[in-house]
Order: sequence, then C-alpha cells, then structure tokens
Amino acid sequence: MRLSDVLSKAPTQEYVQIEGFMNNKNLTYGNQRKIEIGKFALNYFCHKCADLRSFWSTDTIFCLGVDSKTISIDINLKCNCETDVQVWFLIESENDISSFAPKVRIIKKSERLGNHVSRAPGSYGVESINLEKSDQAFKDSLGIGSMVYLRIIYEHVTKMVADSIGLSILTDSGRKKPFNQLLREVDQQQSIIPSEFTNHGYTLFKELSEIIHGNSTEEIALEKYGPCRRLLVGILENIKNKEEIRSALTSLNWNQTLQE
Ligand SMILES: [Zn+2]
Repeated sequence: MRLSDVLSKAPTQEYVQIEGFMNNKNLTYGNQRKIEIGKFALNYFCHKCADLRSFWSTDTIFCLGVDSKTISIDINLKCNCETDVQVWFLIESENDISSFAPKVRIIKKSERLGNHVSRAPGSYGVESINLEKSDQAFKDSLGIGSMVYLRIIYEHVTKMVADSIGLSILTDSGRKKPFNQLLREVDQQQSIIPSEFTNHGYTLFKELSEIIHGNSTEEIALEKYGPCRRLLVGILENIKNKEEIRSALTSLNWNQTLQE
C-alpha cells in the first residue's frame, strides 16, 4: 500500500503500514520535500460539470516536515474541467515517518471547497437522498423538479434541527408554524444559516417557492439551480459542522468543563 491509498480514504484511528516515501531521510521542521506517493482522487460534486466527479492529484506532491513522526501535505485536486479543491492533510506515523515501511494515519484533514464544489452527496445523512434526486432532475433538464427537491430538503432539515432542540413546529393554537417563523426560531437558537447570507435564509426559501409555484420557466430554474443548491449545501455544511464540533467537545469532556 502507498500513502496515496491512505489519502484517498476517510481518516481512521488505526495506523496503516505503507511503502516508505522519504528515502529513509529525516525531514526537519519547516523544510519541504518532493515525494513519490502515487496519484489519488477524492470525489466531490462539481457545479461546472453538474455531476459527481473524481478530483485528481497531480504527479508532483510536496510535503512539509513537522517532526520525526509528522508531516503536512497541502495539495490541489482537480476535476477534468480544471475546477480545483485544496486539501490539507496532517499525517502521523507510529514510528519514524521517514523509515522504509512507516505505519501512518491521517490526524487532520481539511478542505477548501470554493464556490464551484460541494461535498459528494452522501455526506449529509438522510438529506443526501433528496440531494441526489435533485441533481438527477437537474441533469435531466428538469429545472423546476430539481428545485422541488431543494425545498423539501430545506424544510426537512429545519424541522430536524427544531426537533433536536425540542422546539415545537406548531403554534400555541396547534397549527403548523409558517416556515418563515420556524426558520427564524431555529436560526436564532442554532445559527444554521451561514454568516455570509444570514439575513437571506428566508429569501432562499422564497426563491425556491416562487419557481415551484410556476412563477418561472424551466430555463430560469436551471440557471438558478447551481447557486440555490450552493446556498442550501452551505446550510447543510453548517449543521454538519456544528454536530461534529459538539461531538468532538463531548468526546473530550469539554462540555462539562465549560459549564463548570
Ligand atoms: Zn468539473
């Protein structure tokens, strides 16, 4: 197995033995070295290709020395259409990372996706199924159909967050809260709308609704699909990010410490 095989998979706790790639020569802190680790790809949704694509690494990969067991790799992965994603890995070895057969694992991975790339569908739990359906409708040139799925996701995810914090989706008189109200209440407590469009959470819903209710054409819907999808994915990312941070805090027992 090569380091590229490790980088192409999700990080795990376990160390994996790989072929050495540092020629048994130490790399001191802050120094850079070209390494031969093989090409690898990660899957993302490319908005320019409107499809799930493999984003490939180039032949030349550089790593940065941290200490005798750790290196950092900053890499650009590219879709066929040249859209790129920046991914940063921190790799730790159980023994000396420059040895002939180090055992390694990824201890940190972060991605800068930019405006034309989203995580692959499948990353957002139950919402992923509808996201895949909306992408499929878009590929079949069904603009309005694709927007219907985006609106379903938006309503569903907002209700799920309301449920998770014990916020009722009904008014005092037992009626369903208008979406505008529910979204505002959920956002006040959980900040699910990314700060870049914090005042436009409901505008996005209105945009989707207007298209669905026939105040638009298929062409306009197809044109608006990419940007609307990007904003909705921003909300899904935000929710996912907050959940991951909460679970990380819990596993470190910091929740308790913060309350004390
Ligand atoms: Zn592409």
